Amino acid sequence: MIRFERQTVQAHFRLPTGEAVVARVEIRVNPVTGRTSRIAYSRTGEREAATESFPDPPPFAGDTARCPFCAINLSTRTPRLLTSYDATGRLVRGESVLFPNLFPYGAHSAVSLFDDRHFVPIGTASAASYTNCFRNCAEFLRRVRAEDPEAVYMAITQNHLPSAGGSLLHPHLQIQADRVAANHQRFLQARAARHLTETGRLLFSDYLENEKRIGERTIGATGPWQWLAAFAPEGFFEVWGILPGATSLFQVTAAAWEGLAQGVLNTQRFYRGLNRNGYNLGLLSIEDTTSRLELRVVILARSNYAPWVRNDHTGFEVMLGDMATFTSPEETAEAARRFWR
Ligand SMILES: [Zn+2]
Repeated sequence: MIRFERQTVQAHFRLPTGEAVVARVEIRVNPVTGRTSRIAYSRTGEREAATESFPDPPPFAGDTARCPFCAINLSTRTPRLLTSYDATGRLVRGESVLFPNLFPYGAHSAVSLFDDRHFVPIGTASAASYTNCFRNCAEFLRRVRAEDPEAVYMAITQNHLPSAGGSLLHPHLQIQADRVAANHQRFLQARAARHLTETGRLLFSDYLENEKRIGERTIGATGPWQWLAAFAPEGFFEVWGILPGATSLFQVTAAAWEGLAQGVLNTQRFYRGLNRNGYNLGLLSIEDTTSRLELRVVILARSNYAPWVRNDHTGFEVMLGDMATFTSPEETAEAARRFWR
């Protein structure tokens, strides 16, 4: 069942002036995972370091000579795919180039570049570069499926800037496939299966229909992708894009990849409008014919990449496991909608 549960707790104290204060904290339950997260309303509108204006590029943003992903170095400094995948060792679509991850996190681990631009500030990439890059990822995963059909646990992720975990500035996506599920894949596969058994409905389609009926967190559509603010965010300004009915990356049409690219760029422009320069993206899939987990991309802003910015995961998140954000998802949706018009 999809339930949107929330409750409010209140902190009572007195200001230095003696004035009594009641500070409201909302605790929400993620309708998919059952995990709780918190919205600390007393911090809404607080000036966070380095968000007064859009941060300057990092000082090494022009250092293309040492970048393995820049075209001058690419052929000598990036690894090649096995010839059973591709005779040339790299997959190319438009300006996107895909090759193995030199530092793999799993059995099938690759990197896909958007183009030869070394530093691309958030929200300034072309839709074509994202479309080509996503399609390159899908093509690699199609070849993984042919080579290793049991490696069904697949993911496409992005770390934009080092504050989001990016180790190289040059924009790229990571692609992952394994026979062993990651925690979220394992949980979501079981959750989607249970939802289907109990309700006869697909989990994210059902979630989306509920959200459309409520209407408070829906943002817009790009092609067949439907966008909304997460009800119980586990990241700042968390946005979901759902492709209802699609349970495999290989069902995504060329037009739908374009729609995904457009929605990702809309989200990036929204974050840029908030003077945020870093973010994470993740699209998980389980390429097993029995899986009923639909495609959903999750995007969230991370702490800015700028000097002396605090990390967005404090002792509260790391030790208690509840993410605390400062803006209601309904306000996030309201602020994001203009980027979809
Ligand atoms: Zn570069």
